[in-house]
Amino acid sequence: MNISNSPAGPTVDAVDLVVRNARCVATMDGGRRELHGGWVAITDGLVSGVGDGEPPTATTTIDATDCLVTPGLINAHHHLFQNLTRAYPPMTDKPLFGWLQSLYPLWRAIDTDAVHVSAWVGLAELARSGCTTSTDHLYLHPRGAGDLLTAEVDAARDLGVRFHPTRGSMSLSEKDGGLPPDDVVADDDEILAACEEAVARHHDRTHGAMTRIALAPCSPFTVTEDLMVRTAELAERLDVRLHTHFAENSEDDEFSLATFGCRPLEYLERTGWCTDRTWVAHCVMPDPAEVGRLGAAGIGAAHCPSSNLILASGIAPVVDLRAAGVKVGLGVDGSSSADSASLWLEARQAMLLAKLRNGAAAGTARMALELATLGGAGCLGRAGELGVLAPGAVGDVTVWDLTGPTFAGALADPIEAWLRCGPVSARDTIVGGVAVVRGGELVADNVGEMLAAHSVHAARIQRLGA
Ligand SMILES: [Zn+2]
Repeated sequence: MNISNSPAGPTVDAVDLVVRNARCVATMDGGRRELHGGWVAITDGLVSGVGDGEPPTATTTIDATDCLVTPGLINAHHHLFQNLTRAYPPMTDKPLFGWLQSLYPLWRAIDTDAVHVSAWVGLAELARSGCTTSTDHLYLHPRGAGDLLTAEVDAARDLGVRFHPTRGSMSLSEKDGGLPPDDVVADDDEILAACEEAVARHHDRTHGAMTRIALAPCSPFTVTEDLMVRTAELAERLDVRLHTHFAENSEDDEFSLATFGCRPLEYLERTGWCTDRTWVAHCVMPDPAEVGRLGAAGIGAAHCPSSNLILASGIAPVVDLRAAGVKVGLGVDGSSSADSASLWLEARQAMLLAKLRNGAAAGTARMALELATLGGAGCLGRAGELGVLAPGAVGDVTVWDLTGPTFAGALADPIEAWLRCGPVSARDTIVGGVAVVRGGELVADNVGEMLAAHSVHAARIQRLGA
């Protein structure tokens, strides 16, 4: 039994929840303290104490014997609706542009029900991998499909995870030299009005907010230059963050040179995007001078290692980006490019690729844990509030069981063991002091129902391509 209620019931001084007896609490605080035998206390949704002595009395106690306790992991790039078209054969052997063009015709069929169920299932999958906060880059808004952003905000609220969706957009269709079909793009004025409305409706600026909105034109090859400029201006006026795809592979570089007469970074700079308000996805192709410019701008980058591998895009220069001052987080990317949506897996892939690119000592489990926590918080503009176990930060905690055959023999270093052994799922995923995953299972009682609904929508959408 991992969870117990205090027999005396709540007392005046009791905290709401304490996670105690951890083999190690990786605080990710300024000193990167690792507390052996440590505990984390949560009150009113926020961390109220962290330590390695006697924990405070709590209304609810979670025993973390033999477990690593980390801040909840943060997913900094995703397209949740794409889990409706996973492992879909016409796209499984394509690089980025061919992959997109195989799937756009199917994705036109998404609607509010499909987006709600795909977001719920996708966020549930992420929670099982230890993720407590996710963004979503929802750039597909077919005409007449309804308010898709609200549908996914509702799904995150139903499940109980922290959510940073972006109001994405596409305005440049095939007839104008872009990639998407004509009926999934909108004009710039419509898009900007929808962005402003989404912020007014959903963006919560309070400390510990569960929902925040960012603005996110899909990519340079799907929107007009004017929309990039005007979106950056709107984000400045509304004081929200900016997100887009950037320098994902060589096709992306070639498109930029042919269409805009410059490399992707120069395009970001001339459209007003190279600022600390922005975090980009991928960032695979910058050359060394560009890495320095990105760092100087204080930009964020969501590293998406599985997606970069499965689409054969390349290996992002993560170690160099971090050294230059870029806030590097992790993203699972759209479910049908990466096909899995596990933050743990992305952390491991990031560790392995950093070793391959920069040497065995460069890619450590601690570096990958920083990407998955502090780096993600930096991307989302919430450093100090998310991704750290320190008083005042959000009460988002993941408990990882380090027992059984998977961890046999891993005695000396629980953080290296966490990422080198595996595959690993979270034992408990806690958001704002409330468990979303407990004992490795989702707490929600409607998982079967949501998966059945997801199958119906996936079959409907995939039949369009048959
Ligand atoms: Zn993406």
